[in-house]
Amino acid sequence: MGPGPSDVPARVLEALSRPTIGHLDPIFLRVLDESQAMLRQVFGTENALTLPMSATGSAGMETCFANLLEAGDQALICRHGVFGGRMAEVARRCGAEVTIVDAPWGQAIDPDELAKAAKKRPFKVVAIVHAETSTGVLQDLGPFRAIADSCGALLLVDAVTSLAGVPVDVDRMGIDAVYSATQKCISCPPGLSPVSFSERALRVLLTRKTPVQSWYFDLNLIGQYFGGERVYHHTAPVNMIFALHEALRLVLEEGLEARYTRHRAQANSLRQGLESLGLELPVAESSRLPPLTLVRIPEGVDDRAVRTKLLEDHGLEIGGGLGDFKGKAWRIGLMGASATSRHVELCLGALEEALR
Ligand SMILES: *Cc1c(COP(=O)(O)O)cnc(C)c1O
Repeated sequence: MGPGPSDVPARVLEALSRPTIGHLDPIFLRVLDESQAMLRQVFGTENALTLPMSATGSAGMETCFANLLEAGDQALICRHGVFGGRMAEVARRCGAEVTIVDAPWGQAIDPDELAKAAKKRPFKVVAIVHAETSTGVLQDLGPFRAIADSCGALLLVDAVTSLAGVPVDVDRMGIDAVYSATQKCISCPPGLSPVSFSERALRVLLTRKTPVQSWYFDLNLIGQYFGGERVYHHTAPVNMIFALHEALRLVLEEGLEARYTRHRAQANSLRQGLESLGLELPVAESSRLPPLTLVRIPEGVDDRAVRTKLLEDHGLEIGGGLGDFKGKAWRIGLMGASATSRHVELCLGALEEALR
C-alpha cells in the first residue's frame, strides 16, 4: 500500500510465467495488437500511436519530452511535487528552455497562474502531472487544453498514477502526449510505460529539424515495429506484454466506471478511518487523489519506527513523505488490485496498533 507497485493479481502473474515466444511470432503479435487496442480504451483515445514503451514510467516521461522537444524549444512546466520537478529536468536535458509554474506541496496548480505564464510567449509544450503521487493531489485537467491553445502548445500529461484509477479521458481533455506505468492502478509488475500521441503531436514529431536525441525512445523507429511493418528495433519484452495484456483484460472486465467508483469508495473509507484515529489529511478535500492518500504524522511519532513495525508485523508497506513532507507525512496507496476493503481494514488496524 505504498506509492506503487500495487498488488498483482494471480492471473497476471500466471500470464507473466507463460513460455517465452518470439517477438515476431503471430501469437505474440496478436497479443500485442490487442494490448494496444485495450490501452486505447483505458486511455480514452483513438490515437493510432498508443503503445507500451519497454521500461518503467520514467521512460514514458523521457519518450514524450525527447520526441517533442528540440534544442532551444520553450517548455512550460507545472511543478507541484517530485514528478513535475522531474519533468522540468528531463525537458532541460532535451535542450529546451524551461519556464516553471509552482504550487505549494499538497496543493493543485492554479490554472489562472498558468494562464498568466502562458501569455508571456509561445510554447512548444505545456506539461502537467495529473496525479501527483508525491503529494496525493489530483489535478483537474479541465482548463488545460484552452491554456495550451492560448500559447500554441501541445498538452503533455503524466497519467502514471491516474490511469485505470481515475478518469483520464485523453481525447475528451484534448491531451496530445500522455504516459503512464504498469505498476500503479493497472496492477501489473513494473517494467512497461504505456504512451499515447495525438495526430497533432505526431505531426510535430514528423516535422522535427533534428533526429530524436534518444535512439531507444525514438517513436519514429519504434512505430515501424508497432505499425504494420514489424521492423526490428529492440526485442519486445514478451512476458511483460503477456502480463500487461492480462492486466488490461482485468481492468476492462471490471469496467472503467466501476473501477473508478471502487477507488473513490475505498479511498473515502480509508480517509474516514484515518480521521477517526485522530489523524490529519493535509490535502484539501477537493483535490484529493483516490489512489493515494497523504496523512500527517502526529507530533512525537517516529516515522521510520511505525513503517518498520507495519512491515515486520503485518507485511504491510506504506510510503514515507517526500519534499516538504519528508518525515512529516505518510503516503498510503490504494491502487488497482490493492483498492479493497480488506486492504483498508488491514491498514487502519495496523496503524492504530502501531500508534498505540
Ligand atoms: C511512479 C511515477 C512516475 C515514475 O514511474 P517509474 O515507473 O517509477 O519510473 C512518474 N510519475 C508519477 C506521477 C509517478 O507516480
